[in-house]
Amino acid sequence: MDLDDFTMDFFSLKGKVAVVTGAATGLGQAYAVALAKAGADLYLPVNRSSGEETKALIKKQGRKAVLVKADLSGKEAAKQVIKGCIETFGRIDILVNNAGIIKRAPLLEYKDEDWESVLNVNLNAVYYLSQAAAKEMAKLRSGKIINVASMLSFQGGKFVPSYTASKHGVAGLTKAFANELSAYNIQVNAIAPGYIKTANTAPIRQDENRNREILSRIPAGRWGVPSDLMGAVIFLSSAASDYVTGHILAVDGGWLVR
Ligand code: NAP
Repeated sequence: MDLDDFTMDFFSLKGKVAVVTGAATGLGQAYAVALAKAGADLYLPVNRSSGEETKALIKKQGRKAVLVKADLSGKEAAKQVIKGCIETFGRIDILVNNAGIIKRAPLLEYKDEDWESVLNVNLNAVYYLSQAAAKEMAKLRSGKIINVASMLSFQGGKFVPSYTASKHGVAGLTKAFANELSAYNIQVNAIAPGYIKTANTAPIRQDENRNREILSRIPAGRWGVPSDLMGAVIFLSSAASDYVTGHILAVDGGWLVR
């Protein structure tokens, strides 16, 4: 391609269909609205929250939003989500594996159920959703899978062993899927958000010492907000990133380089 052939249309998602998990709240809502702003229609599996607020924000962009109930802690639910998207829209172009949970407790008191539930939602669902989506994308010879990693894909953290294991696993799956799916023109990348203001981080923001500790190490000097992630998800979902695969993009105000 000549340099002149590149236009801002490479960032457009017009005509694309995206699945974003956990889009009723927090970062997932920001990803879904960003994709709608870039032109995509959305298929949105939601768990406990209704997702109506996200749907309204997407409709405001003139895009379609279909909500379905799905508890992604079971593998059948994950497979059903992709099947449902194909039945509704006839295709899937983009999958954003955002749904995730965190359970905090000291290691010596850590409960088996907190180990298992976090791995089920944060890692097993990512595998099952991605595999099912990749089978559909392979038919189109095109697709984008964006996983949601974390600073704890790189670091150990404290009091969150299952979360750290799951997010290291997400980084590994991103690379493993990227290698195999390149043959089908499917790019697989991850976004690693830093410390962002959502329900997930409310307990550590309320802890004065922890909050001060975290802020003092963020070069940007502030917590992130969900809108800080919107540009990254559009880039990784669009043709502008067609030669980017297997990458874990930190959106962290500089946390990792400190
Ligand atoms: P959040 O507001 O708590 O969002 C988590 C989402 O996951 C919710 O919409 C939730 O839906 C969904 N979910 C949880 N369990 C589910 C299940 N069994 N089945 C289907 N969906 C389920 O927190 P967030 O901060 O936006 O987190 C989104 C992602 O970003 C997570 O993967 C998290 O690990 C990651 N992350 C966040 C930060 C941060 O600083 N906030 C940093 C790094 C990574 P319901 O509420 O309806 O159950």
